[in-house]
Amino acid sequence: MRILITNDDGIFAPGLWTLVRELKNIAQVVVVAPDREQSAIGTAVTLRQPLRVQRVRPLVPEVETYSVEGTPADSVILALGKLVTNKVDLVISGINQGSNLGDDVLISGTVGAAWQGYLRGLPALAISVAVTDSLYLDNGARLTALLAKRIESISLPTNIFLNINIPNLPLAKIKGVKITQLASESHTDTVEEGFDGKREYYWLMRQKVNTDADRKTDIWAIEQGNISITPLHTNPVNKPLPSVLNSLCSNLLQELLKT
Ligand code: MN
Repeated sequence: MRILITNDDGIFAPGLWTLVRELKNIAQVVVVAPDREQSAIGTAVTLRQPLRVQRVRPLVPEVETYSVEGTPADSVILALGKLVTNKVDLVISGINQGSNLGDDVLISGTVGAAWQGYLRGLPALAISVAVTDSLYLDNGARLTALLAKRIESISLPTNIFLNINIPNLPLAKIKGVKITQLASESHTDTVEEGFDGKREYYWLMRQKVNTDADRKTDIWAIEQGNISITPLHTNPVNKPLPSVLNSLCSNLLQELLKT
């Protein structure tokens, strides 16, 4: 199995390398990721300037690693279109430091990168941990490895594109795994004004809203201490079947506790 790993936190982010370290045990891993942090860049693609790529020394030995002067989505397009000549079986973006819940998925570079894999007919996972100072990245990496093994072993009748959020808790405190829907609102946007000594400036600020989220949503699942797995799709025909999701996700936490 060959796995392409990318992210939006930049090529040297700890979440990406925690994932690489774990997945290298079960697959051949290639890393193609932006050379700097690109959080909240969404699905942006660079069409009006050339892209430069550098082969860089990996933080985990013997992993083919490329740094891209471009967006997360650019990185996946370049990887699948040019850099990785062998067949890729799975695209994984993450582990992002910070949750991507509800309408976050529309601006998330983590999700934007995974989406390019999905568009090319590959199973794609976007993985996020629900804090920015991530203490429990290992849980996310081990969960992803379990899912990757399951994706390899069951034949998928539809494309799978999953947005996965993991609470920042020790494994023993995680309550369960929920297959969820996107919450309809997650943030309010406000504008702060300031003056830099020469000119006025504006900061766009996002604040999480506490929705009384219903029990089907990703926000509810995370707030209750669950791992949230949300199937995303762009076309009703490609909507993953509930039976596929159930076989991918059944007893995941139990199996994770055994690893
Ligand atoms: Mn990020």
